[in-house]
Amino acid sequence: MPSSFTGARRAALRRRLLDWYAKHRRDLPWRRTGDPYRIWLSEAMLQQTRVETVIPYYQRFLARFPDIEALADADEQDVLKAWEGLGYYSRARNLKRAAEQVVAEHSGQLPSQAEDLDALPGIGPYTSGAIRSIAFGQAAPVVDGNVKRVLSRWLAEPALTERELWAAAADLVPEAAPGDFNQALMELGATVCLPRAPLCLTCPVRPLCNASASGQPENFPAPRKKAPPPEVRALSGLLRAQRGGRLLMLRRPSRGLLGGLWEIPSVAGDATEPLIEQLDSQGLRVVAREPLGEVRHVFTHRALTLRVVALERVAGRLRAGADPDQARWCTRREIEALPLSRLMQKVLALVDGNSP
Ligand code: SF4
Repeated sequence: MPSSFTGARRAALRRRLLDWYAKHRRDLPWRRTGDPYRIWLSEAMLQQTRVETVIPYYQRFLARFPDIEALADADEQDVLKAWEGLGYYSRARNLKRAAEQVVAEHSGQLPSQAEDLDALPGIGPYTSGAIRSIAFGQAAPVVDGNVKRVLSRWLAEPALTERELWAAAADLVPEAAPGDFNQALMELGATVCLPRAPLCLTCPVRPLCNASASGQPENFPAPRKKAPPPEVRALSGLLRAQRGGRLLMLRRPSRGLLGGLWEIPSVAGDATEPLIEQLDSQGLRVVAREPLGEVRHVFTHRALTLRVVALERVAGRLRAGADPDQARWCTRREIEALPLSRLMQKVLALVDGNSP
């Protein structure tokens, strides 16, 4: 492994980074608490999401679910509603399931041991390391995108493997103040050691950084060619009740993309037959009418073009005894109370624009 830091260099890196962090750390709400639940929540929200986006969600979520018991007792729909717009909804579902497990198996106290934490839904090596170091003061490493970039530059290694990165992070994290150290490492990556234009002149560790000494720090890690996300198509159908103008809303299966969120009837692909069959299974015979437009939405791993058509009921009615937690006629106001994806909000805006 090309990584290792000598004892003197390791000590100097730690000292410089911690001194810098003490002076320059951003004042973020989850840095004002030692509560493991709050720290866990912030780490779950921060995955793939910018700090500025997370702050209001974090505050609203805690006002609604102030502790693990409250989250465990909550309805999943309410948890998803509080997460609405933050994306990656499996994080919210996992948090809720993990809270239930913590109440059942750990008397409502988030465990501090790696094997207990790692057994909770949604807690992978990064979150486990973050919770153990920040909330419980254990010398556990973390590696996220920022840490990866900073370590690659300190070592001037363009292509460290995951294993090498975790080994280097473990080698560096100190017994004293491991949480501050890990947060400092991430903070340096987020605010100074920027991907394209690192601010080496203001960097506290510049004298110890091999990439900066090379004169081309932005070459580390070696840029990866990112393929554009594949293009996919989907179809949504707007079905209004004959009287009152309520819209038919269906809930997506709990697992998978946008799991547990509500939508107007939608299917993958561009053909109307699967949509008609989906509604047939609900007891409704429909035909497709005029197109209402298209909505475009880019997820991390796919770029979606969704066509929206009006549907008309020709026979049948929503199956008697249909679970109202899975299918229901809703007024526009009732729809606002349901957890919806950003994509579905775009669809509804399109529909509103088409309304007479
Ligand atoms: Fe990053 Fe430059 Fe600091 Fe090195 S000196 S860690 S490349 S900002």
